[in-house]
Amino acid sequence: MKFCDMQYERVDLEQVKSDFEGLMESLEKAGGPEELKEVHKKYYDVVRHIETMANITSIRRDGNTKDAFYGGEQEYYDRIQPEIENLKNQYKLKLYDSKYKAEIKQWIGEVAFKDIELSLKAFDARIIGLVQEENALITQYDNLIAGAKIVFKGEELNLSLLRKYLVSNDRATRREAHEKETEFFLSIEAELDAIYDKLVKNRTEQAKQMGYENYVELAYYRMGRNCYDKDMVESFRQQVKQYLVPLAEKMHEERRKRLGLERLSFVDQDVFFPEGNPEPNGSPEEILLAGEKMYRELSTETNEFFDFMRKNELFDVLGRKEKKSGGYLQTIPDYKSPFIFANFNGTSGDVDVMTHECGHGFQAYLVRNMEIMEHQEIKMETAEVHSMSMEFFTEPYMELFFGDRTEDYVKMHLEDSVIFIPYGCMVDEFQHRVYEKPQMTPKERKDVWLELESVYRPHMNYEDDKFFGRGGRWQKQSHIYDYPFYYIDYCLAMTCALQFKVKMDEDYSVAWDSYVAFCKASASGYFVDMIKDAKLDSPFQEGTIKEIVDKLQK
Ligand code: ZN
Repeated sequence: MKFCDMQYERVDLEQVKSDFEGLMESLEKAGGPEELKEVHKKYYDVVRHIETMANITSIRRDGNTKDAFYGGEQEYYDRIQPEIENLKNQYKLKLYDSKYKAEIKQWIGEVAFKDIELSLKAFDARIIGLVQEENALITQYDNLIAGAKIVFKGEELNLSLLRKYLVSNDRATRREAHEKETEFFLSIEAELDAIYDKLVKNRTEQAKQMGYENYVELAYYRMGRNCYDKDMVESFRQQVKQYLVPLAEKMHEERRKRLGLERLSFVDQDVFFPEGNPEPNGSPEEILLAGEKMYRELSTETNEFFDFMRKNELFDVLGRKEKKSGGYLQTIPDYKSPFIFANFNGTSGDVDVMTHECGHGFQAYLVRNMEIMEHQEIKMETAEVHSMSMEFFTEPYMELFFGDRTEDYVKMHLEDSVIFIPYGCMVDEFQHRVYEKPQMTPKERKDVWLELESVYRPHMNYEDDKFFGRGGRWQKQSHIYDYPFYYIDYCLAMTCALQFKVKMDEDYSVAWDSYVAFCKASASGYFVDMIKDAKLDSPFQEGTIKEIVDKLQK
């Protein structure tokens, strides 16, 4: 069905409550495992319907932020979300304690069962109030950042529009843009500090109320990490420091030479070529058409996927003034449909959506008919393997977008992928340090950031910048406020994507088949097992990073 024809109807909280009461009653009354299975399928229907309506709302609201109707509906779902979470947990607890537990476990699998256990550890009715307060603080942060009005060369810009000047090939222009950015962040610094301090204290209190020592443990449950812990993550970061940081630094040094600079500054951070970073040819519409051509040629599965998306109008990717910024993949479970949202503006970011978000979308399409809902609920590290690997699988088609600058684009993408990993690990280590010592002052947190910069990005030179030079860079990273501890997932995923890259250089079609199999496995297995099945080395295993670095250097 076309997205515009999908009927919207508000989910009534009282109705949901009575649905859940009914489900729990049937669960208790179930006379055998088959009956219980039927109850659990009804639970899927209820949950999928709530998600369908909430997701249709957010997509339509994001498509027109001035739409009063869907704006109001969005506020409604934000408000009832913790209560629905609580109902789901009550249900899961009953399922977990059911006398047919063994049979259910056999049906949905050990991993799905473990996930239920984790979600019970991640949430409790006691913390509903704190979660609502946390959500309000997140909204405050988002509004503060989205509200940026930076006057640059006579134009009023928000942060994403300023971006093109931050990476301008003219150094004086990008320096000026950076000065403007610093000015903006200095003007909101006190608020940024206050919001984060409240978030850290709020999340720590949630952890305490749940009986944990600090927020780190709760965050791992909340991210659904069912097969690795913080010690394994720490050893991964250790490998990155030892083997990957030196490679990244070498790439920065090459970049410095290419740009013809005596010393790199933070104003040169995302600039790869003296003539400027490659930009795609053609209008946003033409980029979409090039994407269509690419996926038609890439494989029969991607062709089918793209057809489905086009036929059902599941793309809203062209930029419009009233749209929310950014891009993402969303699913609409009742219609078994992925949906891709973006704001094409004719820059290389449009191509990123074609490769990255379509990677997420392609995976969602492949598993849209899965019966067991828990198997569709992928964790972020797995999801980012789907998307980041697609960025590499589409490389042979980049000429469609970049013409004579294709080689530059491919080079930039690889360098960018490698140098991202140290940054991502730094974001992760920073958050561990913050939540392990929640009483730190804002100043002490910034000192921690600066200390980590010297470990992960020793080349970084903030000159005497009054905001970024004093350890403020992380306040621009929305995940740190909005999705705590969601960042190492990108780094773990990137180490897998880079291995796919090495494999596709050896034999593209073998690599593609194992990628598709990995996508189809979805969340049915543990991440560490699924990557083993795809013949990838685990990022947690000693030696993996060294080997990737060796191969990349070749
Ligand atoms: Zn992604």
